[in-house]
Amino acid sequence: MRAEVLAVGTELLLGQIADTNSSWIGERLAASGIDCHFQTRVGDNAGRIVLALRTALARSDAVIACGGLGPTQDDITREAIATVMGVELVRDAVVLGRIRTLFDARGRTMAENNARQADVPVGASVIEQLIGTAPGLICPVGDKVIYAVPGVPYEMEEMMERAVLPDLRKRAGEPALIASRTLRTWGLAESTLAERLGPRIEALAEGGAGVPTLAFLASGIEGIKVRLTVKAASALEADDALSAEEARVRQLLGDTVFGVDEETMEAAVGALVLGRGWRLGLAESLTGGLMASRIVSVPGASRWFAGSVVAYASEVKASVLSVPPGPVVSLEAAEAMAAGALDVLGADVALSATGVAGPDEQDGRPPGTVFVGLAMPGRDTEAVELRLPGDRERVRQMTVISALSMLRSRLVRA
Ligand code: ATP
Ligand code: MG
Repeated sequence: MRAEVLAVGTELLLGQIADTNSSWIGERLAASGIDCHFQTRVGDNAGRIVLALRTALARSDAVIACGGLGPTQDDITREAIATVMGVELVRDAVVLGRIRTLFDARGRTMAENNARQADVPVGASVIEQLIGTAPGLICPVGDKVIYAVPGVPYEMEEMMERAVLPDLRKRAGEPALIASRTLRTWGLAESTLAERLGPRIEALAEGGAGVPTLAFLASGIEGIKVRLTVKAASALEADDALSAEEARVRQLLGDTVFGVDEETMEAAVGALVLGRGWRLGLAESLTGGLMASRIVSVPGASRWFAGSVVAYASEVKASVLSVPPGPVVSLEAAEAMAAGALDVLGADVALSATGVAGPDEQDGRPPGTVFVGLAMPGRDTEAVELRLPGDRERVRQMTVISALSMLRSRLVRA
């Protein structure tokens, strides 16, 4: 079963509103195992809506048209559907009665225009309007179908869940769903990732039911995401297939996979620190508290996070963290900051970051030069030098995830 979405409204084309309806419908179709290969937007123009509907019907089994069911002159989805069906619109007395009742209940008189919303193409059935005034429509066209739902998101969503998706699933016959899982990675270049996964992606491309597909998505300061998607008869079956594939992908990517779905780097680090019964301390220069802020956004962070010393000025690095005299953007300074944070915060493990966020260079070092320090029990305090790309904000964000990633890899390997 292939369904596509046709969002109607000139305001969508002009960029005045974002087409969130199509995204929402796409997500719900996937969850029902219904393929959706096209999503189209068209303005409030009769000829072009008819053309878009015909085009969609030619390549799909079902079309979901949203918007343009209102009472005003530019709401013409009903008329366009009747044209495509080759039938007349007939005013439906029951629907009209319901619209009147809705207006009466609000103590308002119904405008003559609203009666148009009771027009139904001959042969179509009506999806009763429970919240708005416009009913939805189920319009058979040969062995295919056009659904019309309102443009107002919560009215559309309610009608989709109550009537359209159940009807589509019934037409699709065999129950199925499409499920996906996202593995988040940090530390590999996109080309390296592509190389490692290439053979597996090719093998999977042979396809078939229950065989997952693999795609990746570069997400900037969040790393690269690898998305596994599978179509299966049940949630349990989908879950099994995804877990099996996840294990294979993890074998290929090693511990660069730091999280699954919504799990962030800071949450992943938190779980590891907490697992040891430790508390993390920070010493932040160029990130100025950004690292701490991301950490405290993880629920329950108080169980594993001690705090952060934002030591920006050189004197503060020296007086609070006992950083020895010398350049403050250096491996030595990063090590001293981490050791200092461990000490003053009474933490069990500490991370530090000092560097040049830009746009100007500092101490002869170019923007993007960052030193990250790590102090933890049972090993020497260490520091690494990073060269991070991008503007000031990006360098600071990249510093946070790089530092957390460094701690994470020490903890998973130790
Ligand atoms: P109404 O009966 O309220 O007029 P309608 O079916 O005619 O509903 P539209 O007039 O096309 O729907 O849209 C009504 C409102 O719904 C728009 O002003 C917009 O805020 C929202 N809307 C319409 N289409 C979309 C869409 N594709 N994505 C998100 N919001 C939308
Ligand atoms: Mg309208």
